[in-house]
Amino acid sequence: MSDTAHPPDDQVPEDEDEDEFEPIQVFSEPTAMDLRPGADNCYKCSTCDTNCPVAEVDDEFPGPKFQGPEQWRLKRQDDTDIDDSIMKCSNCMRCDDACPSEVPLSQMHNTARGEYVDTHMSKRSIEYWRNRLLSNYRLMAHLGSKVPRLTNFVMGLRVTKLFNEKVLGITSEREFPEFATETFRQWWRTRGGARVTNPDKRIAYFHGCYSNYNTPEVGKALVRVFEHFGYEVLVPDQRCSGTPMYANGMLGDARRAAETNVPELAAAIDDGADVIASCTSCSMSLRQEYPELFDLENVETVSDNTWDALEYLRVHEDLENALEGTAVDHPDVAYHAPCHARNQGLDGQAVEVLSAIDGIDAHDVGDSCSGISGTYGWKDENYETSMAIGEEMFEHMLASEADTGLTECPTCSMQMEHGTGYSISHPLEILAEALVGDASEAGAA
Ligand code: SF4
Ligand code: SF4
Repeated sequence: MSDTAHPPDDQVPEDEDEDEFEPIQVFSEPTAMDLRPGADNCYKCSTCDTNCPVAEVDDEFPGPKFQGPEQWRLKRQDDTDIDDSIMKCSNCMRCDDACPSEVPLSQMHNTARGEYVDTHMSKRSIEYWRNRLLSNYRLMAHLGSKVPRLTNFVMGLRVTKLFNEKVLGITSEREFPEFATETFRQWWRTRGGARVTNPDKRIAYFHGCYSNYNTPEVGKALVRVFEHFGYEVLVPDQRCSGTPMYANGMLGDARRAAETNVPELAAAIDDGADVIASCTSCSMSLRQEYPELFDLENVETVSDNTWDALEYLRVHEDLENALEGTAVDHPDVAYHAPCHARNQGLDGQAVEVLSAIDGIDAHDVGDSCSGISGTYGWKDENYETSMAIGEEMFEHMLASEADTGLTECPTCSMQMEHGTGYSISHPLEILAEALVGDASEAGAA
């Protein structure tokens, strides 16, 4: 994680020696989060550039080194424009992970993108409203899930796709994800909430938008697995984690979401819970991006107490013993580690854990980026780039002896399905099947 505890500008000691290096001032407000020391850490090794999947396939993208430290240095004196290429960065955060010098690259990119949208992008442009629509998926999903069958039908129509492409710039190449007929939260209420009470083992589930509206089976699997281990599951009120908003420079929207999520999750932590996410972009957001971008009360508490679901079980439970002798009737799977799982050091865990189950053969398809990066690959202008980035993953999936994909990230799963035709599972679904049986047997659906 990047170091955000840099001293504000007004604490920089007075220069006693006139020749002493005077770092540039990039923020006008001395209380703003200070990226200057991070920019000064960069020694131009270009490791970030060689790890950027967008720069690899798009010769016009200047890469993370330019988007991060160089752009912040250029912001001195009158040269304050943010380059519009910042909108081509997909926020995969691979450059963050690659940098040997702890330069807070993604924090710089997110901040620059927010400034670019605030100061350079017309609020009357189609691009602005298209990006706002895509990044506020929860609002669209909330409305669509009121009448899921009708929404699914309308979104699947050719005429809708053509309208989206021609008018909004949303590619018609992709199938819009279907809404579930019952959201996770509806299921949770109908079920009567948690079936285990335990003040000593509590988790607060951050389900995010996609598990709630599109794949509630992932949330149900999480509940079954954690209750199997005796955890009381809390489901706090919540909004989007903010991930699609950072990628579109909508930092005001992301902050408003964080202003709901942070106090709700902090209250659950006060009640003895740890925060668990089933999507690795959600856990990344709560852990890293919130404290990097938002100066909110308890933001560090939430960051320090947030976990990925499988990671939490690996640390707190004896998964190896629990899985001994278990079996599932499941096709072999081709596992793709999302970039945001990789950035949290979680890329090897799913294959390792699931390999303990009889009947599962999990193939890791390598370390390439899937290319879709949330809303990035949904934009008409990025579709080809997104598919070019994903090519390596598709090839590895198709070459592996598997016909089902496996990943923790909802948009990676869309790309995997789109590029190979495979159906996609979440590791928690397989874990639930092994430990508890399928949903109907477990009486939990
Ligand atoms: S990897 Fe880090 S130190 Fe190297 S060029 Fe990129 S930002 Fe600078
Ligand atoms: S976040 Fe990803 S796409 Fe953006 S500059 Fe870094 S590596 Fe490239």
